[in-house]
Amino acid sequence: MPFNIAIVGAGWYGCHLASSLASLGFRVTVFERNARPLHEASGNNQFRLHLGFHYARHHGTRLQSRDGFLRFIERYPSLSAEIDENIYAVPEGTSLIDFKTYKLIMVSSGIDFVEMTAPDPRLAAIEGALLTKERVLLIDRARSYFANRLGSALRFNCPVGNIVQGDRHVEVNGESFDYVIDATWGHHHRPPIDVYYEPTMLLYYEAKAPHPAVTMVDGPLASVYPTEDKDVFTLSSVVHTPLGRFSSSAEAVACRNAVNSELVDRKIRAMEDHISENLPAFRDNFRYIGVQLAIKTKPVGNFDDRSCSVFQDGRIFSIMSGKIDTIFFATERVLALIESENSLAPIEVAPKIREDIILVPGK
Ligand SMILES: Cc1cc2nc3c(=O)[nH]c(=O)nc-3n(C[C@H](O)[C@H](O)[C@H](O)COP(=O)(O)OP(=O)(O)OC[C@H]3O[C@@H](n4cnc5c(N)ncnc54)[C@H](O)[C@@H]3O)c2cc1C
Repeated sequence: MPFNIAIVGAGWYGCHLASSLASLGFRVTVFERNARPLHEASGNNQFRLHLGFHYARHHGTRLQSRDGFLRFIERYPSLSAEIDENIYAVPEGTSLIDFKTYKLIMVSSGIDFVEMTAPDPRLAAIEGALLTKERVLLIDRARSYFANRLGSALRFNCPVGNIVQGDRHVEVNGESFDYVIDATWGHHHRPPIDVYYEPTMLLYYEAKAPHPAVTMVDGPLASVYPTEDKDVFTLSSVVHTPLGRFSSSAEAVACRNAVNSELVDRKIRAMEDHISENLPAFRDNFRYIGVQLAIKTKPVGNFDDRSCSVFQDGRIFSIMSGKIDTIFFATERVLALIESENSLAPIEVAPKIREDIILVPGK
């Protein structure tokens, strides 16, 4: 049955769900309060197409990344790119894990890498390092791709207020739909698990000469990662990137909107100091160009869990994600829930397996 589905939010999750459901014959409408797709967290992050190297402390997240990475390249071959040199390095003393344990975890997860026998000379105080094939997401391309693909199904400048559930339908801004998917990363409606909202600051830098992507693992460490513009990198620090921790989306938005140049100056100094512990020539090799602000929605407690969950409340589904590579999980879960709700009663069939067994004379 071609269900009529409303999706709230045109981030990676809303756009991918809309595109997938439209391919299956569903009628979709995407309500987005901003004027373009991928305007919030989906367009303001570190742009890694994760393979699992970030998540030494969460098995489920690592496996979802490993599988999502391959599916992403197959489904969206032009929306990510290779990185010439992509290094994951374990610093001495400041990492929560030693290099041999880190390496063992990645080997046992089936994620390919090459161990660097002579780590890059730009790195300091490093116990060991891996070269990986992790990629970078191409956000400008993704914006054009989804705008073309979804066409008039995407409604911009359309904030959604109350969602009203009836018996056999649900209303969004006064229009009736069979189902609604809240793909706002918990901003329209709080997910039914304990979450908090974390405004974040990443810094943009221009590299003066070609530079590898370098991610220090595992724990309160810093990283530099390229964007789709090869000379432009983001600088991130697990310690200095978060700007606070709030129990509501509104408070987090207020904190993000209150960022001023004094705070930015402080963060520049702190984050440059942090990365310089392991990349001492950072200030010589990079030039600061600007700031990136976003909001993360995180589950309380499970601090390294970035796996994807889908919740159902009647005809409303809501998505909680920590990364972009789990978009496929979200679609399959939504489809499974819709299918199980609308399938006919199970057909009773007497087992006839013996009729299929080929009789070969034996002992
Ligand atoms: C600093 C930072 C770094 C990160 N780095 C990475 C990374 O390197 N790799 C990775 O895979 N992930 C990363 N992530 C996580 C990733 O960005 C998110 O998991 C992903 O973008 C979530 O996508 P989404 O579609 O669920 O949410 P969003 O991108 O936030 O989209 C939600 C959309 O809903 C819209 N919306 C909200 N309320 C309403 C309303 N009432 N009506 C209409 N529209 C509404 C918003 O405008 C927005 O467009 C990072 C996140 C941050 C913040």
